[in-house]
Amino acid sequence: MALVLCPECGEETLDRLTNCPLCDEPLAEEKQQIRDTTKLFTYGALFLCGLTGATLCNSLGYTRTAISLAILGVLSMVVMILKLGKS
Ligand SMILES: [Zn+2]
Repeated sequence: MALVLCPECGEETLDRLTNCPLCDEPLAEEKQQIRDTTKLFTYGALFLCGLTGATLCNSLGYTRTAISLAILGVLSMVVMILKLGKS
């Protein structure tokens, strides 16, 4: 637990609070953005892994594994697009 200064009124508040108790200024906006970006990167990595794995398995003759990986890749892409659309 740490104390942070409110950017709006300068009051010391706990960093686990999302808004300043005095002026209601949001405090955790930056943290939330970093978390969202990390999530997007995870889905992007899953998408790439899925596609690469699917191509690799397909060329090796593992059709079922290739299909599963392709589905994983497409699902990650869909989630990524949905997340991007929201922000
Ligand atoms: Zn404040």
